[in-house]
Amino acid sequence: MPAQPVSSPVLSFEEARHVVETQAATSTPVGKESLQLLDSFGRVLAEPIFADRNFPPFRRAARDGYAVIAQDLANPPATLQVIGEIRAGVKAESIPSIASGQVAAIMTGAPTPDRADAVVMVEYTSLQDRQVVIHQGVAAGDNIVPIGSEAKRGEQLLSAGVRLDQAAIAVAASVGKTHVQVHEKPKVAVLSTGDEVVDINMQPGATQIRNSNSYSLAAQTQAAGGEPLILPIAPDEPERLRELISEGLEADLLLLAGGVSMGKYDLVEQVLTEMGAEFFFTGARIQPGKPIVFGRVDDKYFFGLPGNPVSTMVTFELFVRPILDALAGATPQPLRFLHARLKSEIKTKTGLKRFLPAYLSGEFEQAQVEPARWHGSGDIASTARANCYLVVPADRGAIAAGEWVPVLMC
Ligand code: AMP
Ligand code: MG
Repeated sequence: MPAQPVSSPVLSFEEARHVVETQAATSTPVGKESLQLLDSFGRVLAEPIFADRNFPPFRRAARDGYAVIAQDLANPPATLQVIGEIRAGVKAESIPSIASGQVAAIMTGAPTPDRADAVVMVEYTSLQDRQVVIHQGVAAGDNIVPIGSEAKRGEQLLSAGVRLDQAAIAVAASVGKTHVQVHEKPKVAVLSTGDEVVDINMQPGATQIRNSNSYSLAAQTQAAGGEPLILPIAPDEPERLRELISEGLEADLLLLAGGVSMGKYDLVEQVLTEMGAEFFFTGARIQPGKPIVFGRVDDKYFFGLPGNPVSTMVTFELFVRPILDALAGATPQPLRFLHARLKSEIKTKTGLKRFLPAYLSGEFEQAQVEPARWHGSGDIASTARANCYLVVPADRGAIAAGEWVPVLMC
């Protein structure tokens, strides 16, 4: 009698997601390394980054125009004397001082003279020889960015756990970080199972199919900041499956695909049980993706994702990312939903929350979504034409055209 999973709850989507998030919150991130700034793009910061000076470090002109004393423009227009020009990068000792009735031409990014309290945009002026006519009044402070108004020296600008996007890279560059401490990429073993599945460099026999899941999972892993390691395909046979699972558990995270349904040769749960696995859930009331399994062997997490290629892809997005983020040292991110109007009526069975590959078009209030015309969870080609997932709540049997519906962006 093969061992049965100790407990095998089937959870709602929200419960299953909560379980994953709870586990993510307790998992220990992988190690750290120092990388050159640009190589750190997409990695997770392992150190906080502080302002090494005030931002801006001097009173910075935000426009091209004239540095003025606002009081001189109390009754516009006013004709004022131009006493010099201040370019960006000028040395501090070369900044001219101005007195009442005087202005200095100034460029964006240049430091303003001490007594100047505003910059008038060049568009509101006409230069006549060494005099300038300013047609509009100005309020003190206009177009001058005060010292330290963006950040004070010593202030924390980025916290550890942030994934470095272009804006974070800009922040690190602005404080002179040529190298940053980041987390290593978590290693993710990808193990596809199935006697019918052959590798992509083989000519499949008449009843075989090529292994697409290992590649979609590896691509999603890369996109999520992990380092995939594709293992050989496991046959539906316990000994070899067990060997490959053991190998996969050497990585930081193991993703299995296939072999988690109810069939006689769906052996993944059985073999994992024999290996002492703890299961957090063995199904979620979603479609596609219902047989999803999440558990742990010792301190290693694994997911048993359903083998149908669309199920494999969507369950990665729904459940794997929080764990991968946590292992990468990142603060896990919530799923990103937006709302769009349904293009034409949908009818489905109730009971499962659906994540249907769909096509989002239009922008802003015009956004419209329609499910991809597909032939079930195996239809990769129609999924490849989709650009989002349309979410249908478990209790909705029909949704009318024009209704606002949630859309999951991945
Ligand atoms: P399973 O979850 O093992 O019952 O597989 C469900 C369906 O997905 C079956 O039609 C399998 O042939 C297919 N499938 C399983 N693994 C893969 C894979 N690695 N690549 C493509 N299709 C697969
Ligand atoms: Mg199978």
